[in-house]
Amino acid sequence: MYDYKNDSKIPLESRENMDLQAVEDAVRTILKAVGEDPDREGLVETPSRVARMYAEVFSGLHRDISQDIKVFTETGNDEMILIGDIPFYSMCEHHLLPFHGKAHVVYIPRNGKILGLSKVARIVDTLSRKPQLQERLTSEIADQIKKAVDATAVCVVIEAEHLCMTMRGIRKPGSKTVTSAMRGGCRTDARTRNEALALINRQRTGS
Ligand SMILES: [Zn+2]
Repeated sequence: MYDYKNDSKIPLESRENMDLQAVEDAVRTILKAVGEDPDREGLVETPSRVARMYAEVFSGLHRDISQDIKVFTETGNDEMILIGDIPFYSMCEHHLLPFHGKAHVVYIPRNGKILGLSKVARIVDTLSRKPQLQERLTSEIADQIKKAVDATAVCVVIEAEHLCMTMRGIRKPGSKTVTSAMRGGCRTDARTRNEALALINRQRTGS
């Protein structure tokens, strides 16, 4: 039996909150159910490996997101801020297959309250690490940014490829799904929204 509780490579929050032995048993059951032999050499370690992988890719379920948020005050800075091209990897909750791509975040601070650049990436990462939908991930990122710094406006755009679509041939490989979420001034004011989207588009096209 694999000693999950004492494997320091597994995120602590997953070791404390997940039944990884049950995940291992379930993967073994799936392998048998599809007609594989879970005892053959190449598969012996697979259920435990998948359990440890799930502990990582679903660790966001148990992580306290406040750990990922650090706020600075830069007095007088209430200009639009873009954090673009944040890579992320998530798991589609309908098929448990990956969807991955880039997130672009724009916000306007209130009273100079800004987030550390790496912290925005951490927020995206934590919210990605659970069974997710692209639309909900987009909304959750916007809500967390809004809440963390009380931003007057937030715009989040995500472009992603879904393996459940591309590897099953429903769509051409490489096709992207784009979602957006607007909060505050980006929702209520068309000029602010257009300015935010133009900033993101310049980043996306590299011009
Ligand atoms: Zn799917």
